[in-house]
Amino acid sequence: MTRSTLAVLFACALTVGAPASASAQAAQTSDPIGRRVESLLRQMSVEEKVGQMTQIALQSVSSRAGTPTVAVQLDSAKLDYAINQRHIGALLNVYNVAMSPEEWRDANQMIARFSARAHLKIPVIYGIDAVHGQIYQTRSTIFPQNIAMAATFDRGLMRRASEITAYETRASGIPWNFSPVLDLGRQPLWPRYYETFGEDPYVASQMGVEAVLGYQRDPWPGVSSLLGANASGKPKFTGPVFVAASAKHYLGYSMPLSGKDRTTAWIPERELRELFLPSFRAAINAGIRTVMVNSSDINGIPVHADPKLLTDLLRKELGFTGVVDSDWEDIIRLYKIHGIGKTNKDVVREAVMAGIDMSMVPNEWSFTDDLLALVKEGAVPMSRIDEAVRRILRMKLELGVFENNDPDPAMIANIGAPAFRAVSREAATEAITLLKNDRNLLPLAKSAKVFVTGPTADYAPSMYGGWSFTWQGTERAMYPKEDKTLLAAIREKVGDANVKYVPGAKLNDSLDIAAAVAAVEGSDVAIVALGEDAYAETPGNIDDLTLPQAQLRLARAIEATGVPVVLALYHGRPRIIRDAVDGARAIVTGYETGPYGGEAMAAVLFGDANPSGRLPFSWPRYTGAILNAYDRARPADIGGTDSTNRGYNPEWAFGHGLSYTTFAYSDLKVASPRVAAGDSVRVSVTVTNTGKRAGKEPVLLYVRDLVASVDPPMRRLRRFEKVSLEPGQSKTVSFAVAARELSFVGRDNKLVLEPGAFDAIVGPLTARFEVTGGR
Ligand code: BGC
Repeated sequence: MTRSTLAVLFACALTVGAPASASAQAAQTSDPIGRRVESLLRQMSVEEKVGQMTQIALQSVSSRAGTPTVAVQLDSAKLDYAINQRHIGALLNVYNVAMSPEEWRDANQMIARFSARAHLKIPVIYGIDAVHGQIYQTRSTIFPQNIAMAATFDRGLMRRASEITAYETRASGIPWNFSPVLDLGRQPLWPRYYETFGEDPYVASQMGVEAVLGYQRDPWPGVSSLLGANASGKPKFTGPVFVAASAKHYLGYSMPLSGKDRTTAWIPERELRELFLPSFRAAINAGIRTVMVNSSDINGIPVHADPKLLTDLLRKELGFTGVVDSDWEDIIRLYKIHGIGKTNKDVVREAVMAGIDMSMVPNEWSFTDDLLALVKEGAVPMSRIDEAVRRILRMKLELGVFENNDPDPAMIANIGAPAFRAVSREAATEAITLLKNDRNLLPLAKSAKVFVTGPTADYAPSMYGGWSFTWQGTERAMYPKEDKTLLAAIREKVGDANVKYVPGAKLNDSLDIAAAVAAVEGSDVAIVALGEDAYAETPGNIDDLTLPQAQLRLARAIEATGVPVVLALYHGRPRIIRDAVDGARAIVTGYETGPYGGEAMAAVLFGDANPSGRLPFSWPRYTGAILNAYDRARPADIGGTDSTNRGYNPEWAFGHGLSYTTFAYSDLKVASPRVAAGDSVRVSVTVTNTGKRAGKEPVLLYVRDLVASVDPPMRRLRRFEKVSLEPGQSKTVSFAVAARELSFVGRDNKLVLEPGAFDAIVGPLTARFEVTGGR
């Protein structure tokens, strides 16, 4: 008998002899899912357990990639091998392009057939990046990207969009969504900025929670009320989790020092906890079932191998009970890129012992082989494997995939229903943010002679951004023909005869600026559409936040003609456009608003919609001042003598956004000037529409801590509520903020509430109160 077999026997004896506490608990309690988990676990071989922890990409079980015209082909021999020999727990992703709902259903049925032949018939679950709608499924309802959803400041829209996404995802048999991104958008160079809800931890937490509840709870009440009286397609699933959501990318992924994706972040623990943790904590409290891990390192420690973050903080402190999934190839990268181990086996051990439950390997069997060997050698204890597998099995049982993962055809028929698309259109309209409107150039008259130019005027990928039909979102053949670009939507508003269009510039290169300048003459207004291409992850890296010069040159050249210019922007991150700002009369951003980005922008430009979006981030003005969030402490504001080198001096501040009406704030009141630590601060304010049009105003309540033992932020958003007001109408908005929420991460990295004076701030008004007691 070799040493390793002895070790195996010993490890098995230990596991059998001393049942883990979870199993003992399940036996004693009335937890039917727990009992089923334990029963399965008892029957599983170590190979089956390690297999459950393995997640493989679709391309590894396919024989042909998908193209815009040819469907992906699954390979039954490879699938059989993966499921019946390797016992995989999960699959993911697309093989290049989105598939139709029917292709997804067929693929999931085929996967289910193979799972049904397996020893214990444990279903393999499919995970997908349905990050702004089920974007890897044709005909799905696509929504604005998260950054634009945040700009709506409307929780209800986020919830509805997430319910529709969950419904359309599960309609074809997919029960796991790698969404929401809960990283903060504080590094504008980062190519995944648009996937975030912006720079503020409270906005990210609030929108994140709506996403979690929208995905995971039964969406039928919400979805059927949209579909109307004769709604059919009620899902048959019985599990408590409709589609498992994934909080990603835990933790600190969005703050790479260089701005490049998957590169090093240096984040002190205090800041990590103060800024980057709250959105994850909120999602965990809302019951999120999975967490996906930051692909890079914080302070030199790769997060995939950091037990402090993955176990101490995530499990012990935050109480997360679900599945921790690696990100794409990230265990392999621990030795190939990070160099924290000599071999794959070394790092598999590190990652699993740090707390990874499932590895998105995704294209080989190295994780499975190495983990198996490690268990057999006793280098990874069986108790750790059981812990991970328990979580995975529990999730599958909660999802009800054992019983029924076969979608009802009526659900498929509802994909892309007009009522669902109306929600996307509404979200796009609410997101559009009016940044500048000098002498009320906007809204434009529909009789205007309009000149349109610029690279994003007639280019759908800029409206959608990455993760749209393909990973990068640049495959134009995949885009629905009925989508209206901004140019098409403007033509619809004012008639073809009133629109002249000359592209003028490409996204990264000049085209024929002179031709654009020559053509603009005689127009009442020039709409210059600028911005970015679609991109995702590392391919979207940039070295310069300034918008490419070709575009700025085009804008300046048109501005110089004297025809009033409106800059219409589509972009995933706030590119610096300083050189074009002052010469433009109006500036509007559509971020990446999806299929209705063109229509919604045109509705705002021509006054059919009154803009109500607000920036969920601070828009940098200069290349040397890009790490500049609104909630800075006072020293960050120390500046020089001229206006260009002040501290917080963005092009547009967090929360900025204009309307075609005006709002006035009055009567800001704090119910009681002294609030005990266990109580809530009750704040009310009256907002009045003082203009001539109906409009919506997100009311933002900030709180400032006047004195604290660490530099207090000058303000921090604590509540928001979007209100709708007719001309002349007033509403009183009331907020209750628990005093505990005014805690901050103190010098010892622990949350502390320090007594003392605070200011509640809404619009131009301030009201002081005092928190008594604390700690
Ligand atoms: C991304 C994740 C995504 C995964 C699967 C990774 O490259 O970082 O956000 O969920 O791929 O597509």
